[in-house]
Amino acid sequence: MSQVYNFNAGPAVLPADVMQQAQAEFVHYGALGFGIMEASHRAPEFEAIIQAAEANLRALMGIPEEYAVLFLQGGASLQFGMVPMNLLPAGGSADYADTGTWSSKAIKEAKLFGNVNVVCSSKATNYDHIPAFGTWKLDPQAAYLHVTSNNTIFGTQYASFPTPPAGVPMIADMSSDILSRPLNVRDFAMIYAGAQKNLGPSGVTLVIMRKELAARCPANVTTMLKYSTHIDENSLYNTPPTFGIYILKLVTEWVQRQGGVAGIAARNEAKAKLLYDAIDGSGGFYRGPAKLDSRSRMNLCFTLPKAELDKPFLQGAVAAGLVGLKGHRSVGGMRASLYNAMPLAGVEALVSYMRQFRSCHG
Ligand code: PMP
Repeated sequence: MSQVYNFNAGPAVLPADVMQQAQAEFVHYGALGFGIMEASHRAPEFEAIIQAAEANLRALMGIPEEYAVLFLQGGASLQFGMVPMNLLPAGGSADYADTGTWSSKAIKEAKLFGNVNVVCSSKATNYDHIPAFGTWKLDPQAAYLHVTSNNTIFGTQYASFPTPPAGVPMIADMSSDILSRPLNVRDFAMIYAGAQKNLGPSGVTLVIMRKELAARCPANVTTMLKYSTHIDENSLYNTPPTFGIYILKLVTEWVQRQGGVAGIAARNEAKAKLLYDAIDGSGGFYRGPAKLDSRSRMNLCFTLPKAELDKPFLQGAVAAGLVGLKGHRSVGGMRASLYNAMPLAGVEALVSYMRQFRSCHG
């Protein structure tokens, strides 16, 4: 089969090595005599997998002992609700930065539990940037500050993170850029991410949180939605998404082989530069709506000179083995998601196609 590069925003491309290893182990895992998907979550083979997945993440991201690493379900969307349910006390207020569709959805859920103070918003300019930290209206009494590190739909990303007022924990939705660049976990009280972009398949949600935060949860929250339940039981309170966790473990091993997060980040930087250079060097044919200082290295959005060209661009791309380039329906244009597993060769093929398309239609 000829090479196809998958630029979808998520679920997304996984490393070829991981797919092959999973295929090789699919029917018979180790000495089990059957597949890991068929194994009990209490089986020693699976316990070894979940422990290795956690240990690998701790090593790759430098996650300190006082943080729990949880493998949950329900996607990042459930975290939009679980965060305020557990951490926003009755009568309290939480700070939220509004930098895109996913931030707005997180805000909507938090409003069900308490007051929300929107510290900044780029909505008026169709979320084309991360507002400068100096303009944020931070509340020193906030229960927490919530940010979305990478805005998957609009193609913007925090180049650095704000410093919340003393005593205010910062919580980040890192669904679309987790494990893509180095960061100091201690700058955050909590990080969460759906796995289906940089970590593995859909169905697993990674939560990294300071263990003591979980004590804030009101008593009347249902057992499954309390962080403390999953911390106390090491994500094995009930049946976790075992196969997804197995793939996530393989992905963490692959990241280690790429030189860890630093190695991955250097490759991500090079891939994004290649595509942004092609956009910026196209004489205005391709345009990136995101402001330069807010450009995402994960989701690169661009438009063509006229909307009528979108269809032929996408059709030609598919014929060239480049799929998943259609922008989100709320934005239009194109979006190339260059997650960790997208090889440089995929970006080179895209840039070459873009050059050729422009020479035919420019
Ligand atoms: N946050 C961000 C930044 C996302 O990109 C997405 C999904 N694309 C979500 C949250 C929602 O994630 P899920 O579908 O896992 O609930």
